[in-house]
Amino acid sequence: MSESLEKVMYWFRQDLRLHDNIALKKAHAISKDILHVACNLTDEQTPWGFKRHSLNRHIFRRQAIEALGNTLAKHNQIFICLNGAINSDLNDASDTLTHHSNGASINLKTTRLIIDLARQHNIQNIFCEVLETPEEQQQVKELENAGLIVHGSVQSSLYEDNQLPFTVAQTPDIFTNFRQSVEQSNKFKAQEQPHNPLASLFPITKKSNNPFLNNALLATPVDHRSSFPFDLEPWLGDENSALQHVSRYFLSPNPQTYKLTRNALTGIDYSTHFSPWLANGALSPRTIWQALKKHEQMQGANDSTYWIGFELLWREHFRLMGRKHGAALFKQNGLKNIPQRNQSQSSQPPHQSHQSQQTFKGALAHQNQRQSTHDRASQSATQTDQNFQRWQTGETDHPFINAAMRELVTTGFLSNRLRQIVASYAIHDLGINWLFGAAWFEHCLIDYDVHSNQGNWAYIAGVGTDPRGGRQFNTDKQMKEYDPQGLYQKRWQA
Ligand code: FAD
Repeated sequence: MSESLEKVMYWFRQDLRLHDNIALKKAHAISKDILHVACNLTDEQTPWGFKRHSLNRHIFRRQAIEALGNTLAKHNQIFICLNGAINSDLNDASDTLTHHSNGASINLKTTRLIIDLARQHNIQNIFCEVLETPEEQQQVKELENAGLIVHGSVQSSLYEDNQLPFTVAQTPDIFTNFRQSVEQSNKFKAQEQPHNPLASLFPITKKSNNPFLNNALLATPVDHRSSFPFDLEPWLGDENSALQHVSRYFLSPNPQTYKLTRNALTGIDYSTHFSPWLANGALSPRTIWQALKKHEQMQGANDSTYWIGFELLWREHFRLMGRKHGAALFKQNGLKNIPQRNQSQSSQPPHQSHQSQQTFKGALAHQNQRQSTHDRASQSATQTDQNFQRWQTGETDHPFINAAMRELVTTGFLSNRLRQIVASYAIHDLGINWLFGAAWFEHCLIDYDVHSNQGNWAYIAGVGTDPRGGRQFNTDKQMKEYDPQGLYQKRWQA
């Protein structure tokens, strides 16, 4: 597209940032008149008997949206935050923000709202990032079916597609092969700088005051035991907080010992804590990569600094697996073309086994593609319901699991070690369908990311791409190793 366009819309999805945003850059290159739009999470109920998004998830995303709107408003850019009502004064972004952030949610479909808004403004062209997951692809189809032209850009990965030594379709399924291949390739190094397209248009200034003080919902306190206390200024969900956290982290000595501390269960500095900002898009992985390389130059590279990059490559691999394998990753059998072992129950959601239609995303989106042949021998549906509920609410027979599940629900965050342990316990000890577990994580996690979540659950269930099959953790052994004095359990006692 070479000629400039009249008014266009920029639709922020999982890219709630101004830095390193290729799609936003394209919109600004083509038009001077841009309506910026972001949507709060919807309030829908899932057929599983719980809401799709926890309050923690709502708040964390809204922090990012509100700050983004404030920054855009300061630069006389129009910004609308949608969560139902769309009649506010579009010329006053801050009024719009206040109006739309009062907790009211009308639950209209996001695409319906965007289509209506585009029509009100005579907009035909919408720019956004491409999200190659089933529900998000459906959203774009709906916009196109309504006559809108959607200009999508793939972004929010470490590598751009042309920096990979293979096509997305040829991405090695085995992580080690993928990692070695990208590490040996020199395609990425030349361009590892993040894009900073709007630096001159929208400089990211230091926050002079807290933009969230007037909003009661955003001031909801987070449990003081949280490892990610996002009611406190350094941990808010917005881009500024994310960038400041990256600077602080890489100026600290923590990266030098990351590999030794990353398996800890609790605390604010045992691991990088980048994931919540990566998930809502307030932070780009290329920004982290650049800061990591700078840290290595200044303070030295070692096993620990390498391992931060190594973990970011896991994120990258799960994203590429999601793009390569698409809807298959949401099926009961995942990427394995074999009947499930050890998952005896129907893939109907507990409480609602009469439901035949699920139209929601992520882990939930494809669970209705049931396998008529899968083994459902050993447990009754009632037993399954009970196990799932006991696991969700932290009322299993295992105090270590219960403590972790309480932390997850209360704070929306959980260490990687504990995520592995509770997922393994759900799948391999309680026989819970891995899709149910993934759905509960989708509800709870402030860093919920469809690719990382689905990929990790499939990995533990043994239906992902890992050649070694599933991962079963011995919960007692893990408890003895990581919580020998029971301090973690005490911390999260009922
Ligand atoms: P660090 O240990 O500091 O790692 C740095 C970054 O590397 C992380 O921010 C993350 O982007 C990436 N990373 C690290 N470990 C993994 C991993 N196993 N898979 C993919 N990326 C990784 N991560 C999410 O971001 N969203 C999810 O929804 C999610 N669901 C998970 C579900 C299960 C069952 C398991 C076992 C893991 C899940 N993870 C998920 C991966 C991992 O637990 C988190 O990324 C990590 O705990 C976040 O903390 P951190 O940023 O301090 O990570």
